[in-house]
Amino acid sequence: LYPEDGQDSETLLKNADAAMYQAKNLGRNRLAYYAPGLTHEIQQRLELEQDLRDGIWRKEFTLHYQPQFASSDGRLVAVEALLRWNHPQRGMVPPNEFIPIAEETGLIGELGCWVTETACNQAMQWRAEGSPMFTLAVNLSPYQLRGECTETLMAILERTGFDAEWFEFEVTESLLIEEGGFALQQLTEMRERLGMKIAMDDFGTGHSSLGQLKCLPIGKLKIDRSFISDLPGDANDAAIVKAVILMAHTLGLEVVAEGVETREQHRLLCQSGCDHLQGFLYGKPMPAEEISRLLADNQLRIIKTCSDH
Ligand code: C2E
Ligand code: MG
Ligand code: MG
Repeated sequence: LYPEDGQDSETLLKNADAAMYQAKNLGRNRLAYYAPGLTHEIQQRLELEQDLRDGIWRKEFTLHYQPQFASSDGRLVAVEALLRWNHPQRGMVPPNEFIPIAEETGLIGELGCWVTETACNQAMQWRAEGSPMFTLAVNLSPYQLRGECTETLMAILERTGFDAEWFEFEVTESLLIEEGGFALQQLTEMRERLGMKIAMDDFGTGHSSLGQLKCLPIGKLKIDRSFISDLPGDANDAAIVKAVILMAHTLGLEVVAEGVETREQHRLLCQSGCDHLQGFLYGKPMPAEEISRLLADNQLRIIKTCSDH
């Protein structure tokens, strides 16, 4: 607003920009007025964005891998690739801080390709080391479905020699609303042409519509950590988890519980028929070499399987 927020057009535009970022931050489709504190926030954001660009160029990213186990026999069924950014000054920047910016700026496209290719190469190396077969799960942002995602994945699978059958993209419910029908269409096409698997990540936190769930080309639901963390004490969460497992099974979907940290949670999930388990109780996200070591020592097994109690 002139003249409160700036005496000249340059200042006014800069401050209007700050307000726009603020509106986007609060979730799109909003109105925001400029306030003096905003510029500092925007400055920090712009710095992070520039660092992100430099970081990709300087190869400051690595992947960690977190195992998933079958509740029935404790077998390793999958590993999920999780992005890590080791910035020389900022230190380890958690994905929740930089992925949203990577998405907003489109840098996620490049970053996502790198994740997929690096993870596939790594999985091929585990196989060369004699590991058993397991699924490789990679997180996919809705943004990535705007581009030529089918061609991109096909090229990566070809280059690395990894088979689509053992590859899984984890997507979130947000893709249904954010990108409308297009993302879903892309995902369906990708699945039909390449035959890779798709899992619904963070299930229960987004705008899940049960009606849409049955139209999705997914084979697996990952129950969000927020429903697991208060188990078994929270009766509501316990009821939700049990109902989700039942519903998923009725729809022919497998269920993974995320963020399992305690034996009590483990027990309740097993009793409720949850197929796969992932969480600190079994293994934190770890560097690839650590997975190799555990595989070689044949120690990558769940501590206690459901049948043990
Ligand atoms: P996500 O895909 O739901 O990944 C699971 C997150 O839960 C990971 O956080 C993991 O470290 C954490 N976690 C696993 N087990 C436990 C547990 O027992 N307790 C607790 N408290 N946490 C647990 P992380 O690595 O910080 O990743 C956060 C999110 O960032 C991921 O959530 C995913 O949405 C996103 N992300 C990570 N890597 C990528 C990537 O390569 N591409 C995209 N698009 N997103 C990614
Ligand atoms: Mg995930
Ligand atoms: Mg998740």
